[in-house]
Amino acid sequence: MRKRRSFVKTAPKSLEKRILDNAFRIKEDFTIILPKPLDERSQKIINKLKSRLEKVWEFRDDIKKLEKFSKGKGLESALAGVLLLANNPKAPYLARVKVGDRDVAYAIRGKAEKEKLISLQHFDDPVLRILGFVDLSRKKKLSLFSWKDNFLCSCSDEFPEDFLDFLSTHINLKREDHALKCPHVEANGERESLLIKLKSLSIEICRKCLGDKNTVFEITKYICIPDLQKYTDVTIRSSLLKYNLEVGYKEDYLMGKMSDREFFERNFVEWKDKLKSEGKRIVYVEGKVYEDPASFLKDLDLKGEEKKALEILLSNVAEPIFLDDKRKVNLILKDYWRDYGEAILTKLSGDSKLARNVFDPSGSPVAQIRDVMEVRERIKMISEYPSYKELPPIARFIDEIAKEYITRGKEKVLSILSRPPEETRKRSIAYAFLLALGKAEERKWQYRREEIEFGEFLSGYAMKLLNSKPEEYHENLKLFLSMSGVDEDLENEQ
Ligand SMILES: [Zn+2]
Repeated sequence: MRKRRSFVKTAPKSLEKRILDNAFRIKEDFTIILPKPLDERSQKIINKLKSRLEKVWEFRDDIKKLEKFSKGKGLESALAGVLLLANNPKAPYLARVKVGDRDVAYAIRGKAEKEKLISLQHFDDPVLRILGFVDLSRKKKLSLFSWKDNFLCSCSDEFPEDFLDFLSTHINLKREDHALKCPHVEANGERESLLIKLKSLSIEICRKCLGDKNTVFEITKYICIPDLQKYTDVTIRSSLLKYNLEVGYKEDYLMGKMSDREFFERNFVEWKDKLKSEGKRIVYVEGKVYEDPASFLKDLDLKGEEKKALEILLSNVAEPIFLDDKRKVNLILKDYWRDYGEAILTKLSGDSKLARNVFDPSGSPVAQIRDVMEVRERIKMISEYPSYKELPPIARFIDEIAKEYITRGKEKVLSILSRPPEETRKRSIAYAFLLALGKAEERKWQYRREEIEFGEFLSGYAMKLLNSKPEEYHENLKLFLSMSGVDEDLENEQ
């Protein structure tokens, strides 16, 4: 340890001054460094220590004696060292060491352990002053609690009330007797949380409140409790744990190597991987676990195609599903769309070719579902009507317009007819359709007089065809065609 000490000649004056000032104060009254006992047993322990220290302190002006004392061990030696400091108020060289995550400076005097020298020279620092009493705590089974202006010791298993109040504000958790909790823990039993046990103290913090600090580390720097490790545990509350999962990284966490959040999230990632490799078909939504996809769907209250799509997805995905928000169906589908989208569309439409055409791995799943269902609906509708393999030109023209109307409606036909055809006969027929759809007046200027007159004659037949039932269609098409004066034969319907 001695090798690691490095001397810093340019220590800031204020730091040197503070260390000297503390030495002066100890010279005036050494009991200032002692923890305040809370019970009889601890009172006895502190009294014994006090009388040992007093034997050194008596010689506080005797440099020769102090130098002799400072060659020894223990807190007495450190006290002698600090009193030497007080007797030679020249700015001391300071050594620096790392204590936890802090850089600490102190003056080396005599042979005392650095922890004890640091403790006395920084007796006004709640975290550092504990260092000098760790041995005593271990030997005498004494618990130390040090915060702000308080330095207490006790032989009881309980944490002092005042200290619990301090912790509650310091780590910002609500206190309930010997428990500290974030406000969400009791509000919702399903919520996942981090659970810490420190002897009689229990701490629970929900997943959302977990931060970048290590709560155990944040607490234990203010305490020294014999065998605390034996009575310290950290674990996680999560419904996932019933799937034979284990909480790992405990040791790393308790050694302060990771933050609360890291501890939780690393475990979570491992659990996810394990459940995935086992092919567990559960659905996880913000801490709530559904044992099977069916119970999740029941809870969703979805309707129509979205529900069907999700059903298909859930029956196809042979791994656990983890969701942030169950309400956003499109987002759920999107997570899995690249891998499962085409299969879902195929199953929904029963038409793999159509599904392949509509499928877009990066597009909106809900929009694709809508598209595929619309096309399928049209195909179904049109399949009830006669279909013709090869129609002569005019017949095909009439058939196409009528079929567009039947499957896609008026607007679609009007957009097809927005430019009049070139052939005269087709033009009259187009005008007849416009009349039947009530849009002739505004398009009249596009047609010649003869075309208009013939179109007016044909409009009744056009209307009849547009409103045909599947079984009437063939006859009505034949009639329209012959009234148009077209000498075309309709082949037999296919
Ligand atoms: Zn919370």
